[in-house]
Amino acid sequence: MPHIPAQRRAVFVSDFDGTLARPNFYQLVRKHLVPPGTPDYWREYREGTMTHFDALDAFFAAAQGGQSALLDMIDRMEVPADLAEHVERLRELGWEIVIVSAGCSWYIQELLGRAGVQMPIFANPGRVVDGRLIMERPADSAHSCRETGIDKAAVVRTFQQETHTVAFAGDGFPDFEAARLVAAHHRFARDDLAAACREEGLAFRPFEQWTEVTAALSQENVP
Ligand SMILES: [Mg+2]
Repeated sequence: MPHIPAQRRAVFVSDFDGTLARPNFYQLVRKHLVPPGTPDYWREYREGTMTHFDALDAFFAAAQGGQSALLDMIDRMEVPADLAEHVERLRELGWEIVIVSAGCSWYIQELLGRAGVQMPIFANPGRVVDGRLIMERPADSAHSCRETGIDKAAVVRTFQQETHTVAFAGDGFPDFEAARLVAAHHRFARDDLAAACREEGLAFRPFEQWTEVTAALSQENVP
């Protein structure tokens, strides 16, 4: 697992697709690269007949156009302007920022690299083989589960054992168990995660832009 320097006493665990980056990589692949007639794996996931991991992996495997088409999808994604400065400012205040994603580290690393940002990433590994993005289950069994590959809640729990303060931001159903673990004032949610929190009566702080979360965290005194 990535090493977190001891002087950082607080950890901000952030989802990637739909939270830090827009739009979701999988949605772009599905819309532009998956041929008509491909089964609706997302509906199978929502109906519980397919895991989240297998649904994403099936869409990636169905995508046409090879590596250049996959890279084109990354070109269509956006991260906040001046991301590197936002990350650096939060780090100077004692926060480490960690990415957790039920997506694939292949495109996350590429996007963060383009933005000149390095941070620990907990995501499903993957590589392009013969023009297809093959997503794999994480080798790290302490932070993986059958449903999503990477187990976001397990990642949050690990950091909670190491530091007093863990914040979480996310936008999807697979974020719920991780979001549930943190204090309400450190639980940032939008879209499906916000709806799930409302349904379960779980307090949260709404956000639209990722930089609203970093701005809120930077106003806190890290103990
Ligand atoms: Mg997301």
